[in-house]
Amino acid sequence: MHTKTIAELARGLRSGEFSSVELTWNFLDRITQYQNLNAFITVTADQALAQAEAADKKLAAGSTGLMTGIPIAQKDIFCTDGVKTSCGSKMLDNFIAPYDATVVTKFNDAGAVMLGKLNMDEFAMGSSNETSFYGPVLNPWDTNAVPGGSSGGSAAAVAARLVPGVTGTDTGGSIRQPAALCGITGLKPTYGRVSRYGMIAYASSLDQGGPMTRTAEDAAILLQTMAGFDEKDSTSVDKPVPDYLASITQKLDGLTIGLPKEFFGEGLDAGIAAIIESAVDEYRRLGATVKEVSMPNLKYAIPAYYIIAPAECSANLSRFDGVRFGYRCENPADLTDLYTRSRGEGFGKEVKRRILIGTYALSAGYYDAYYLKAQKVRRLISEDFKKALSDVDVIMGPVTPSTAFGLGEKTGDPIQMYLSDIYTIAINLAGLPAISIPAGFLNAMPVGLQIIGQYFAEDRLLNVAHQYQQVTDWHQRSPKGFE
Ligand code: GLN
Repeated sequence: MHTKTIAELARGLRSGEFSSVELTWNFLDRITQYQNLNAFITVTADQALAQAEAADKKLAAGSTGLMTGIPIAQKDIFCTDGVKTSCGSKMLDNFIAPYDATVVTKFNDAGAVMLGKLNMDEFAMGSSNETSFYGPVLNPWDTNAVPGGSSGGSAAAVAARLVPGVTGTDTGGSIRQPAALCGITGLKPTYGRVSRYGMIAYASSLDQGGPMTRTAEDAAILLQTMAGFDEKDSTSVDKPVPDYLASITQKLDGLTIGLPKEFFGEGLDAGIAAIIESAVDEYRRLGATVKEVSMPNLKYAIPAYYIIAPAECSANLSRFDGVRFGYRCENPADLTDLYTRSRGEGFGKEVKRRILIGTYALSAGYYDAYYLKAQKVRRLISEDFKKALSDVDVIMGPVTPSTAFGLGEKTGDPIQMYLSDIYTIAINLAGLPAISIPAGFLNAMPVGLQIIGQYFAEDRLLNVAHQYQQVTDWHQRSPKGFE
């Protein structure tokens, strides 16, 4: 059962080939069998089986919802009522969320079965899942390599077939980069498409939740459940949600693809460049035309992001003070001692680095020089995309400059780590949607193709991704030992 896609599982449940309880046991057993990957922080077996039983009743009564009875898992950044929600941090190791994130409610309402909470970089800060308080996640394609981050547990769990679909969040690449490094499909929706209510904030103007699955068709099913206006999130956009599955079958004749020359310069592994070129050739055969576009301000994306994201995180993380919830130090001498030791002991090194940078960038006297300037650069980057997308339907390029790197290889060098998001970060700054899909292998490690679209054009991205997956089988390959 674990080899089936969500679309196939939904058919199997409906035809009575297996029940949701059987399906749930099957995946729970795999999660136990492959515990060494460290993909899950919490497994909610009892709750899952109760949800599966309820789903089987709904199926017997003729439920038509595609998610009814389908096992999923949530990145541990989404609040889950009554279930530990750690955000990968010691700070929240003891935190049982008192309510559900809107995304979680939507999956519950759709009859999905939550198997548990997935490992992630601490507060979603990282590109390798190595900043997690719960230890690194291993990449199923090579257990000496990182799965990417911050949604590393999400990507590894789907690649290892421990669960057919999961949620991730993407502030600077955290859905697309791990999806690419683990050979799965990951969609970062337009900023505002999916509610952020109950999704623990890292950098509020960049954070966006989205689906991670094996196929674009499954991503369409998950996004259908996740997307939509939420009055509890003031940045969620009140725009109708299209029928994503209906749009994926459209043919690609006449599609115009833009290739930014800045994506193919120095720093990109030649092997990856060749794989992206052959993927683009496949699109030509599917009827697309290709032209070069230029985005001169892309080179400023990393420096602008590493001012804006830390600035916003320093404000967001000020709520973790040892008073209201989360970690509290032993025997504080006074209030200042309580604050400083609770934060000092509760946060990891990378989170502290970001808080320090952000606090500095926002302080009086530096605000104009750093934060304001970064915001101006952000606007220039958005304008670059606007111009390019007025000429073409989608933009294509690599997701990552290299395949999955070794565990521990970049932990000593934060700048090298930050550079692994060089092709993803600009999209968050612009607020655009983008998808990463499997496009080949380099030295037996997966490589992703990134497709970027117009605001709220998730339907087009899923369509473009799905058509490619109809004529290629990269997304069907499974890592050795996990078949
Ligand atoms: N790797 C980037 C960072 O550390 C992006 C993380 C993310 O998208 N959550 O900030």
